[in-house]
Amino acid sequence: MPLLTPYIASRSTELPVKLAELTVEFAPGGPRLAYRRPHPTDRDHHRNLWLRMHGSTGGRIQYDCMNSDRQRACMENMLCQICAEPADRNKDGWLFIDWRRPDSPPTWPERSITSMPPLCAEHARVSARQCPFLRRNEYAVLRVRKPRLHGVSGALYRLAADGWRTSDNDVLSAYAEPRLPGMLASRLHRELRGVTVTGLL
Ligand SMILES: [Zn+2]
Repeated sequence: MPLLTPYIASRSTELPVKLAELTVEFAPGGPRLAYRRPHPTDRDHHRNLWLRMHGSTGGRIQYDCMNSDRQRACMENMLCQICAEPADRNKDGWLFIDWRRPDSPPTWPERSITSMPPLCAEHARVSARQCPFLRRNEYAVLRVRKPRLHGVSGALYRLAADGWRTSDNDVLSAYAEPRLPGMLASRLHRELRGVTVTGLL
């Protein structure tokens, strides 16, 4: 079977924003990260600044790296991360695959916080068979009744005397917490509530 080309996978020709495109904006709530040339779609409803991607969709597929625009679109609209068609849903909820991470809650997979969008039935089956990452980890095929939008993650920039400096680490910023003014978001997260573990499809 040919390897899948996941819709959310990044391409080698897609490049993130350059540091020179960022600036400090003095908003009513205090200084915050902004683009030098702002666009109305730069921020989400929670006023988090989102990473801009440049380039075309040609190039090599980077299986271990998600394109932030496409990840966000799938997670926001509950689309399959492989084909971008509506994800599968039945009476027990939406179809997700999740795996245990070092920071997973003891209730895992209940209340797991994930950036992996849901799947259609066909691609859940194929992913479980093909994905080398899943084979190395403890994972579960899930039905999720309440996959709640939880927050964003991305690089956290800090204002220094000579401009913005980034930690380069992925920092999670929950909607329930105060917004981080230096956040450059690149992933949208959901918290999986009302989880039923199912067998392989
Ligand atoms: Zn699919």
